[in-house]
Amino acid sequence: MNQFLPMVALIGRPNVGKSTLFNRLIKRRVSITHDMAGVTRDSIFSEVRGETRSYMLVDTGGLVPDSSDEIEISIFEQAREAMAGADLILFIVDGRTGLHPQDEQVGQYLRQSGKEVRVIVNKVDGPEQEETMAADFYGLGFPLDCVSASHGFGMGDLREMIEEVLPKVDAQELEGGHVQGGLKVALLGRPNAGKSSTINALLGQKRLMVSAEAGTTRDCVDVTVQRGGKTYTFVDTAGVRRKSKVTDSLEYFSVVHSMQAAKQADVVVLVLDIMDGVVGQDKRLLSFLDTEKIPFVIVVNKIDLLTKDQLAKTKKDLVDEFAFCAHVPVLYSSSVSMAGLGGLLPLIEKLWEQCGQRVTTGELNRLVKMVTERHQPPVMGGRRGKIYYMTQADSRPPTFVFFVNDAKLFHGSYVRYLENQLRKVFRMDKTPIRMVFRSSH
Ligand code: GDP
Ligand code: GDP
Repeated sequence: MNQFLPMVALIGRPNVGKSTLFNRLIKRRVSITHDMAGVTRDSIFSEVRGETRSYMLVDTGGLVPDSSDEIEISIFEQAREAMAGADLILFIVDGRTGLHPQDEQVGQYLRQSGKEVRVIVNKVDGPEQEETMAADFYGLGFPLDCVSASHGFGMGDLREMIEEVLPKVDAQELEGGHVQGGLKVALLGRPNAGKSSTINALLGQKRLMVSAEAGTTRDCVDVTVQRGGKTYTFVDTAGVRRKSKVTDSLEYFSVVHSMQAAKQADVVVLVLDIMDGVVGQDKRLLSFLDTEKIPFVIVVNKIDLLTKDQLAKTKKDLVDEFAFCAHVPVLYSSSVSMAGLGGLLPLIEKLWEQCGQRVTTGELNRLVKMVTERHQPPVMGGRRGKIYYMTQADSRPPTFVFFVNDAKLFHGSYVRYLENQLRKVFRMDKTPIRMVFRSSH
C-alpha cells in the first residue's frame, strides 16, 4: 500500500504573497515574483522536509488546468481544490490591504468544510505591525498567524505550526522499497485512460475493478505478478483519486499524488486515452517525469476505437507532442483487443536494464576521443571547449560527468550531440540520462 505525504495548500487572492511564501517555505528561490498580479509560477508544489514532518506544499493559486494556460485560478476554485485534497489549508491574506470582501466569502465557505484551516496574515513586515494588521482578520474565525514572506518575520512559528497540525507519516512507507515485490511499476494517467484495464489485461484476469465512470473511488491497489521468471508489482494510481464528494474538481491534487507515486516507483507507465490525446494533467505529468529523470513508458491505449487510417494519423500527430522527450518509448495498445500489450513487459524490462547500466571509464574516454574527433566542441568568445575526460558517476538514471575546460562552453546543440552519441554507442536509447559538465582549470 502506498502512503502519501500530507498536503498543505496555500490559497489566497492574487498578489497576497502566496508565491513568495511558497518559496520561503521550501527555502529555495524557484518561482519568480513580480510587482504584478497574476504572474505565472514555474513551480506549484514541492516537498518540504521539516524538523519533524515532511509534507507536500502546493501553491493552489498557481495550479492551472493546462500548463499552457497562464490564468490564475480564482480563490474559490483554490478553496474547492484545497478542501478536496489538502490536509491543511493556509489561507493567505494581505495585512497591508486589510480584509477584502472575497476573503470573507471564502472564509465562510472554508468554515463549512471542517478542514484544518489557518489564516496567515502576510506582509506584516515587523512585530510592531502585528497587532493592527491582524485585528482585521480575527472575524474569519480561524487560528491566525502573522508573517512577512519577503522579510522572514514569523516564519519559524509558521513552520512549527504546520508540523504540529499535520499527521505523522511513516518514513519507511514513503521510501517505497522495491526489492520484495520485484520491479515496482506505477501506472499513471487521467481517470478512465485505462490504467486498471491495462493491468487486468496483463494479468489475464479481472483483478481490479474497472469502471466506466470517471472519479469512482477505489483504494490504491498493488498487484504483484510473476511473468517469465520475473516479479512485477503494479501500482494503480487510480486509487489516489480523491474520496471527497467534490465531483467537479479539476483533480489537481491527484496529479501531485501521481507525482509522488512516480517517485516511489522503479518504472512508470503513463497511460493515455487515444481518443483524448495529450491533455490537461497529462502534460504536467509528462514534463514532471522528464525533468525528474524518471524512467517511463508512454502507453497510448484504446487503439481498437480507431480505424487503421485514423491510427496512423494520430500517431503522426503525437510524435510532435512527445518530441521533447524523444527517447521515451511509446507503445500503442488496447486492453480490449490486447494489441500491443505483449510488448509492454519486455519494454519495461529493457528500460529498467538501461537505466541501471554502467559504462567503464575506459569506454567513456574512447567515446570522448571519437566524438570530439568527429565534431570539435564549439568556440565561444575566442575559446574552444575541451573535454579532458568523463566518468559515469551514477546509475538509475545513468549520470555522466564531463570534466571540461569551461562548463559554460557546453550547451545547446553540442550537448545534444554528445547525448545522442552516448545513447547510440552504449545502447541507452530508452532511459533518461543525466549529463553534468564540470570545469576544471
Ligand atoms: P501571489 O500572487 O499571491 O503569489 O503574490 P506574490 O508572491 O507574487 O507577491 C505579490 C507581491 O507582494 C510581490 O510584489 C511581493 O514582493 C509582495 N510581497 C510578498 N510578500 C510580502 C511581504 O511579506 N511583505 C511585503 N511588503 N511585500 C510582500
Ligand atoms: P482507469 O480509470 O485509468 O483505471 O481506467 P479503466 O481501466 O477503469 O477504464 C476506463 C474505461 O475505459 C472502462 O470503461 C474500460 O472498459 C474502458 N477501456 C479501457 N481500456 C480500453 C481499450 O483498450 N479499449 C476500449 N475501447 N475501452 C477501454
